[in-house]
Amino acid sequence: MIPALFDYVAPDSLEEALSALAEAGDEAKVLAGGQSLLPVLRMRLNAPEKVVDLRRIPGLTDITEDGDAIVIGSMATHADVIVNPLVREHVLLLSKTVAEVADPQIRHRGTVGGALVHADPAGDVGAAALALDAEFVIAGPGGATRTVGAADFFVDLFETAVGEGELLTQVRIPKHTGWGAHYEKFVRVKHQWSIVAVAATVRVDGGIIAEARIGLTNMGSTPLRATSVEEALVGKAATEDAVREAAASAADGTNPPSDLNGDSAYRKHLATVLTRRAVLAAAGA
Ligand SMILES: Cc1cc2nc3c(=O)[nH]c(=O)nc-3n(C[C@H](O)[C@H](O)[C@H](O)COP(=O)(O)OP(=O)(O)OC[C@H]3O[C@@H](n4cnc5c(N)ncnc54)[C@H](O)[C@@H]3O)c2cc1C
Repeated sequence: MIPALFDYVAPDSLEEALSALAEAGDEAKVLAGGQSLLPVLRMRLNAPEKVVDLRRIPGLTDITEDGDAIVIGSMATHADVIVNPLVREHVLLLSKTVAEVADPQIRHRGTVGGALVHADPAGDVGAAALALDAEFVIAGPGGATRTVGAADFFVDLFETAVGEGELLTQVRIPKHTGWGAHYEKFVRVKHQWSIVAVAATVRVDGGIIAEARIGLTNMGSTPLRATSVEEALVGKAATEDAVREAAASAADGTNPPSDLNGDSAYRKHLATVLTRRAVLAAAGA
């Protein structure tokens, strides 16, 4: 199908983009890489009067270091993030997770910011951002900015803390330098959306897991943190038996969907299996 008619603007500055959004109110839509928005427009699931393209705004693709954080511009593409040396050194989990998003073509157009704001529960990036305690910098009317922690960013299915007239500008991720990381994604065929996936990053000291962070994909309407597993792993040897025991509670408190790929009970079982695999791989065991 062909999208409904809309006005298109590509402002040269953040201020102009925010003004364009303010003028159009709830009739505006932000365009980043277009990999999720364009299918939505083509299927006429949304018919905005104005599309505000962010690609000409300087600085939004930057990936920089700021003290204890790596700062990722919302328009950095998945491909930019995967190969970036700062990301690989300090937040390896993000690089490994983003490498599992879709296929190379989509990773070269789609942005990390777009994926996070789109907030598809089967999308991969959210689980890593949540596990890594990311902070989200949001610009609003008049240029005012606010910062929202990962626990408050993902509100519901396709809904985040980014409101009408606002833009996600940066994602700030605390450095996890020296931590092992792995994203275990379960799909029937390569490049599919996650049926379930687990993002795990661990700090191992002398064969013992000293700290662990685990995010779950597609186990509810938002990415979820497997805190009981994180707690159970601390102080345990990075061995198959110990990790299996800790991973047994991975699905506690989750409410995964049932669909043609698997019912809710199957996804809960998968979560425990994938958590064990992800943690062992992250620990290098
Ligand atoms: C065939 C296919 C397979 C895919 N497979 C996967 C997969 O396996 N895993 C996965 O995680 N993703 C997958 N995706 C989605 C892909 O990762 C997209 O790149 C991502 O969801 C959206 O990023 P984008 O930059 O293209 O955003 P857009 O499509 O441009 O925007 C997405 C939404 O976010 C809003 N938005 C974007 N940026 C901002 C911003 N800075 N501030 C405020 N609002 C903003 C837009 O208004 C829109 O509502 C797939 C997409 C396709 C088409």
